[in-house]
Amino acid sequence: MLHREKLVVGNWKMNGNRAENAALVRDLLSGLGSLAGIRAGSVGVCVPYPYLAQISELLKGSPLFWAAQDVSDAPSGAYTGQVSASMLNDFDCAMTLVGHSERRGLNHESNELVALKARRAVAAGLRVLVCVGETEAERAAGHTEAVVLGQLGAVLTELDGAALERLVLAYEPVWAIGTGQTASPAQAQEVHALLRGRVGQRSESVAARLPILYGGSVKPGNARELFGMPDIDGGLIGGASLVAKDFLAIVAEIAR
Ligand code: PEP
Repeated sequence: MLHREKLVVGNWKMNGNRAENAALVRDLLSGLGSLAGIRAGSVGVCVPYPYLAQISELLKGSPLFWAAQDVSDAPSGAYTGQVSASMLNDFDCAMTLVGHSERRGLNHESNELVALKARRAVAAGLRVLVCVGETEAERAAGHTEAVVLGQLGAVLTELDGAALERLVLAYEPVWAIGTGQTASPAQAQEVHALLRGRVGQRSESVAARLPILYGGSVKPGNARELFGMPDIDGGLIGGASLVAKDFLAIVAEIAR
């Protein structure tokens, strides 16, 4: 039987400072050391850009990887305020998020732009964690399937066969992010299976190995049930990733 990679990735969003980051990383590394069954590279944190040097230094040689929260779709040049994939590579960045709902919503990022960012990240050798998910109104209108397949479809258009190997997906219903209202395991599983099926139309073997994470108010108390579903391969964790004890308790659920 195929054992798919399990991942837990923390998204710090726009939180932290040098002192808090150092304390959080210290607590995470000491806690991870005593967790049995966690593979190096299966737990990561998405840090704000100004701290990439600090965090890449602190995590050197550790089992924890660090990731960015976004990346430019352009390679270099006159793009004030943006950060390129090759800059991230310079700091041993393993992965970047793209298409987080806060960027889609607050920065009006289209499916096409998210897909171009994904292509650029993969071309620079990064893994890319693409977030998809519907709003509350879209779910209520029965549009969940169309919305997430539209978001995924744009990415599949931009990634060729080899690039697909570097893809990780996160299903994050917008109504569950930071609200304390989690999708039920059955609701999440339904969307995860749909996403895997769509990738399977391109490549059955990629789909079988593709990690699909769930995100949206994952806490120590609900992670086990969510991660126990057949197509949920771990989590993308916002608020709880800022509290070492909570994040570690969630991480422990992928070691089971
Ligand atoms: C997120 O920001 O990706 C997220 C899932 O946040 P939270 O866990 O706080 O809902």
